[in-house]
Amino acid sequence: MISKYLYINTIGCQMNVYDSEQIAIRLAPLGYQQTSSLEMADLVILNTCTIRAKAEQKAFSFLGRLAILKKKKPGLIVGVGGCVAQQQGAKMLERVPHLDLVFGTRTLDRLPALVQRIENKRCRIVDVSMSEIPDLSDTAPGEGNENQVSRFVTIMRGCDNFCTYCVVPYVRGRETSRHPDSIIEEIRGLVRNGVKEITLLGQNVNSYGKKEGLCSFPELLSRVETIEGLMRIRFTTSHPKDFDEDLIKAFESSEKLCNHIHLPVQSGSNRMLKRMNRKYTRELYLDKVTQLRDTCSEIAITSDMIVGFPGETDADFNDTLDLMRKVEFDGLFAFMYSDRPNAPATQFKGKISKQQKSERLQILLELQESFTKEKNQALVGSVQPILAEGFSKRQSSGSFDNQHQAAQWTGRTSSNKIVNFYQNDNPGSCDDILPGKLVYVKIEKAYSHSLWGMPVEIESAAEGVKGEKCYAA
Ligand code: SF4
Repeated sequence: MISKYLYINTIGCQMNVYDSEQIAIRLAPLGYQQTSSLEMADLVILNTCTIRAKAEQKAFSFLGRLAILKKKKPGLIVGVGGCVAQQQGAKMLERVPHLDLVFGTRTLDRLPALVQRIENKRCRIVDVSMSEIPDLSDTAPGEGNENQVSRFVTIMRGCDNFCTYCVVPYVRGRETSRHPDSIIEEIRGLVRNGVKEITLLGQNVNSYGKKEGLCSFPELLSRVETIEGLMRIRFTTSHPKDFDEDLIKAFESSEKLCNHIHLPVQSGSNRMLKRMNRKYTRELYLDKVTQLRDTCSEIAITSDMIVGFPGETDADFNDTLDLMRKVEFDGLFAFMYSDRPNAPATQFKGKISKQQKSERLQILLELQESFTKEKNQALVGSVQPILAEGFSKRQSSGSFDNQHQAAQWTGRTSSNKIVNFYQNDNPGSCDDILPGKLVYVKIEKAYSHSLWGMPVEIESAAEGVKGEKCYAA
């Protein structure tokens, strides 16, 4: 088979990262090998996100730049998938004349056939139909790429929550859960290929299986826990309204579930939460945080926050800052509200000016930075179990510090903090660090977004490594 090159540009969330992996897996039988060089590509796939206006602008700007490449290389096939494709469908062909293929969020299983038709007939195709049973047909068997330590596994698709600012239920369809057997099979396949950590993905994992009468999410976690060779389990995202006691208990009982939860709150104001249709109050959210911390004192909590939702007053914004002070998040993804086509909030009165949104965002980010720094600083002197993922970006780019003539590695703590560390030649040393090894690293420096340390011990791929081991700070 002739080798052809596939370039994938993924914009947006982890769900899209997973879908892009699935795209690569599905196109491999047609002879497509992934490349990081756009110039070499025979097929370019853009996997889009519409959650924020900026992500959509990024998509169209990338597509615009491809016009020159297509002129130089007329045989190039350009395809666009994901939420923007789902939402705009055929309109995209009008807007982007050099586009060959538009495919939706639930058509991954048909993608190879669509690409083949374009290869053979040089036609333009739009397929954004929503499959009724998307899940069981749209997940290829899990085969890990070599040397990948950590992978995503989608356990459900779509969403039934209809938050007023969000278009996910419209572009990704209603919530459907995969059968646990198919999830377990996929993870086993990944683990056989060297994967040590998996992140279970869903828009709201807490409601996993409820509609279909499958097992509950905590029950699924228990099944995943039994997979031999798997070291760490993460999941995202949780909806606070469905976040229940059984899941909180899993943080205590599970050996493999990491000490981190991403629990999006979006606002600290009850008035705004109601307008957003989030179906919980700040009191309920704070109560869940307390329960979590009472159960697992080490847990790191991160969240999402929207600033400048229509109608947000200074008092509402102050409620958000107050909630942040009460929780002291480990990290926060904060965004200025932007209208998304077809989302109910686009019709809401009381739009906030860009300047005010930007000022509020600045205040919020500064407050968060103080918490993040403090939390990172508190780890200095401790020894943290880090799952080595590979060389750090600085090392890969050849720009690492000459003073340290050793490889610079990167990995994460159980609490999901990035730690960079050097392989050293100290006695009892860690000169056999490999991706997937658990390395005990003494944290020496804390930065805003990462930590730095020196390894003190390596443990071979042990079972059930959540990572706690007692070392003096
Ligand atoms: S829970 Fe709300 S924000 Fe999250 S995907 Fe569903 S509708 Fe969108």
